[in-house]
Amino acid sequence: MQDLVRNLLAELGENPDREGLLNTPRRVEKALKFLTSGYAADIDQVLNNALFTVDYSEMVIVKDIDFYSLCEHHLLPFFGKCHVAYLPSNKVIGLSKIPRLVDVFSRRLQVQERLTSQIAETISEKISPLGVAVVMEATHLCMSMRGVEKQNSFAVTSSMLGTFRSDARTRMEFLELIKLRSAASTRSSAGASLVCVDE
Ligand SMILES: [Zn+2]
Repeated sequence: MQDLVRNLLAELGENPDREGLLNTPRRVEKALKFLTSGYAADIDQVLNNALFTVDYSEMVIVKDIDFYSLCEHHLLPFFGKCHVAYLPSNKVIGLSKIPRLVDVFSRRLQVQERLTSQIAETISEKISPLGVAVVMEATHLCMSMRGVEKQNSFAVTSSMLGTFRSDARTRMEFLELIKLRSAASTRSSAGASLVCVDE
């Protein structure tokens, strides 16, 4: 990987041998390995000992989870907040494990829609709740740095499963509790093309 980064620097018109760039290939390799470490993570190991059987049926919400991911179209960061809720049937996940789950899927090359649904589906799979909701709001540097239109907008994606999909009241309760930053603009992106301009 370090040779590739050296070549990339040369292709960009840089001199990879100048002092400031000498250690850059090593740093880039280290950074990229960390930012994609989610591929090697084992979900069951991440959730290990943190699934509990309980008699609790109210909505569990973890909101404002910071996340940082890399857009697979440009290898540039997109980042923002993730909000997760679920209605337990008889199992819950240790609260600290939910941000870890968000990290695992964020530290891969992603599109925001897939990232959102992977988090929701994993929770659904692991504890079979009555419903799961995940909302992610993010700024995409591939849009804002390149001056693509709507550069100051958030892209919002959601994945609603079970009762959050079938019951409008449950969904509204969740949306009210997280009060989206982007709610003022009410811009939401259902279509894939809105999130990252694939050019
Ligand atoms: Zn992109």
